[in-house]
Amino acid sequence: MTRQAITLIGGGLVGALLAQLLARRGFAVEVFEKRPDPRRVGFSGGRSINLALAERGLQALRTAGLGDDVMQRAVMMRGRMVHPREGASGLQRYGVDDSEVIWSVSRGGLNMLLLDAAEAAGVKLHFGQSLLAADLDARHVTLADEHGNQRQHDAAVVIGADGAGSALRTAMNDYLPLGIRVEPLGHGYKELEIPHAAGPNRFAIEPNALHIWPRGGYMCIALPNTEGSFTVTLFLPAHDKHPSFDTLPDAATAAAFFREDFPDLLPLIPRFAEDYDSHPVGSLSTLYLDRWHIDGRALLIGDAAHAIVPFHGQGMNCGFEDTVVLADLLAESGSDTGDAFAEFQRIRQPNADAIAAMALENYIEMRDSVADPRYLAKRDLGARLAERAPKHFMARYRMVTFTHLPYAYAYERGRAQDQLLEQLLRGSTSANDVQLDTAVKTLEATLPPLPQLR
Ligand code: FAD
Repeated sequence: MTRQAITLIGGGLVGALLAQLLARRGFAVEVFEKRPDPRRVGFSGGRSINLALAERGLQALRTAGLGDDVMQRAVMMRGRMVHPREGASGLQRYGVDDSEVIWSVSRGGLNMLLLDAAEAAGVKLHFGQSLLAADLDARHVTLADEHGNQRQHDAAVVIGADGAGSALRTAMNDYLPLGIRVEPLGHGYKELEIPHAAGPNRFAIEPNALHIWPRGGYMCIALPNTEGSFTVTLFLPAHDKHPSFDTLPDAATAAAFFREDFPDLLPLIPRFAEDYDSHPVGSLSTLYLDRWHIDGRALLIGDAAHAIVPFHGQGMNCGFEDTVVLADLLAESGSDTGDAFAEFQRIRQPNADAIAAMALENYIEMRDSVADPRYLAKRDLGARLAERAPKHFMARYRMVTFTHLPYAYAYERGRAQDQLLEQLLRGSTSANDVQLDTAVKTLEATLPPLPQLR
């Protein structure tokens, strides 16, 4: 039997994983990736950029048979290590024990592992091939190599995993408007590095944590790398007011600002001036589309369909969850890709919208509320309720990060639980002011039990 051919644009995190899953289900997959093969030329100019991998993403990797391989190259993060401007740092654990943690993984390392796995599953990978155009009537795509040489490739079914700036999305939108809406956050980011320390303890700060320096309207975070370094990301308003990337245009102005606002962090970044002046400012936006596919001919997945801001550490995790859903639907649907694509959007779009909203909310929580007594009181009361009535209360962060409950469910349930906490606390900043037995009764009377977890 001839296997159905699928053309994939983009061999990044989502494209490479999807390619492997589809090939294992019997599709003939070809991937066209703009960049050169990172396994030959290295990744991201040699910089260590990392990502937080959580249960959803890990589950997709397990489905692809890669869970153990990835875990061997990951650093456990047990919680948020919060570094206030004044006073001592403290760890806010994510879960009750080490079964509920997130993992710091290298973006480049993970991408290369996924490309190896895709190739081993029979996927044909083409590097240095950039999508220029897609003719959805003639069912072919036009690609260009790094020298500008163009070629056409038959593509009866084409899937765009080509990221937030997707060229396939542009081509599809020219063919039939997709209802594209881009909402810029107005904040940008810049990556800096804490190098690995000399001596037996390679890590200059606690390795098993996601570090946050919350400062109200902005923040720094740091995630550990296996070799002992940390990738630091500064998130700051992009324009106008101070501080912003406009008012901190170079390392000299930025170092003075860090000396005031991040005095404990600055000495850990010896190449501050070099990093600050040479690393670009990244922009952050949320992308919404009304339409993710054009019948059975073209579909968008991952960031190409629903790029979100990075503050829940879920963009890749969400994209990985997408790949398993789509691979299953395509395997079930035989040659009717139209039904599979429509069903994919029906299932995934409400979840993508929910994680987009939660990621935006989490920026405020990370940069601000983690140091706010009212937030801490709610968190504390939530933890007590979760312990006393685990069938009725689960922190939203936990639902998103450690379970497979749909994002849309986590969002709605989280909202209902939050309202209840507000009501129980009645403005108090201490969970000790709430009578727990009564609170449990109110909870059980107000909210239905949580779904059973797999
Ligand atoms: P991409 O990773 O963008 O891959 C797209 C691929 O397509 C690339 O390889 C690109 O070269 C290729 N391509 C682009 N255009 C073309 C073209 N015309 N032709 C051919 N190929 C093309 N997510 C998490 O889950 N956890 C985190 O901790 C996290 N942290 C983040 C921090 C920051 C600062 C940012 C910006 C994002 C973060 N994310 C995180 C989100 C995550 O990076 C994305 O969700 C994820 O990379 C999406 O994968 P993708 O494969 O869809 O897109």
